[in-house]
Amino acid sequence: MEKRRDEWEKTLEIKDLVIHYTSDSETVYAVNGIDMEISKGKTLGLVGETGAGKTTTALSILNLIPEPSGKIISGEVKVKGKDVLQMGTQELRSLRGDQVAMIFQDPMTSLNPIKSVGEQIAEGIKIHQKADKKTAMKRAREMLELVGIPGSRANEFPHQFSGGMKQRVVIAMALACSPDLLIADEATTALDVTIQAQVLKLINQLKEKYNTSMLIITHDLGIVAEVCDNVSIMYAGRIVEHGTLEDIFDHLYHPYTKGLFDSLPDINNRHEELKPIKGLIPDPTNLPSGCPFHPRCNYAKECCRKEPPGRKWVSDTHYICCHLYDDTDENQL
Ligand code: SF4
Repeated sequence: MEKRRDEWEKTLEIKDLVIHYTSDSETVYAVNGIDMEISKGKTLGLVGETGAGKTTTALSILNLIPEPSGKIISGEVKVKGKDVLQMGTQELRSLRGDQVAMIFQDPMTSLNPIKSVGEQIAEGIKIHQKADKKTAMKRAREMLELVGIPGSRANEFPHQFSGGMKQRVVIAMALACSPDLLIADEATTALDVTIQAQVLKLINQLKEKYNTSMLIITHDLGIVAEVCDNVSIMYAGRIVEHGTLEDIFDHLYHPYTKGLFDSLPDINNRHEELKPIKGLIPDPTNLPSGCPFHPRCNYAKECCRKEPPGRKWVSDTHYICCHLYDDTDENQL
């Protein structure tokens, strides 16, 4: 028997997911065996540099890996216990927008320039909640109010709004059908700092109001600190460190995570030079052997070049993939 919605503990479960893109001449090893879980009402931050495989992971949750070049080689992606990769057309339609909504960096990729914002928000409500036109428009105006835009502006077109307001419209669209999972892919990157703070505050308020689970994809640790409960650090298609916000911010261990934090400016020491991680993220068509971070790692040893490190648990909530850590040594941290 199918469980009721509130009985689901995990909104999202990803197990051992592997995704490649292939062309005649090469294979891009985009996602290389990741696990991920988001419980109801919780927010996971997926952090890493451009090209780490974050967006590909997000697209797999909506079963939107572009074919024929993209292929899910193995693994499982479950939303509320149902395997997304086995869903038929009808189930996928209900999944996209109804259960899972995604916000992208550029709001114009989601907005139609020749339709009023009210109509665009109402459209999803009509389809997914089977509401009539009048009810859907009323709800669209309410959603605009919720994101801090007067409902009276529902008849205006996207070009009449500023960048920050357009992104709020997209958030209103994404939340109009009360999705179980909201994915925000660098959703505030293009906004200026003040608007970014407003949008993050809004995301936090909406999370509390609707108990929505969220996946926040970002390269910005400041955003993670604002909105996330748990954090996964991704490098070359793998999760290299995962823990609660406190685990990652107060007891981080992986050399790559350390590098990400060291490359942030220190507000208390403005004269100190930034320490960017040396080198570049590896070419995903030709990943280094062993630990893919070894060419950039100051702690690399011989075994790092040969053996990919397995998962080692630091605590019940915190794991890393690194040869440096010995989980049999209790005094190590
Ligand atoms: Fe560095 Fe080795 Fe750890 Fe990789 S496994 S992060 S190369 S110490």
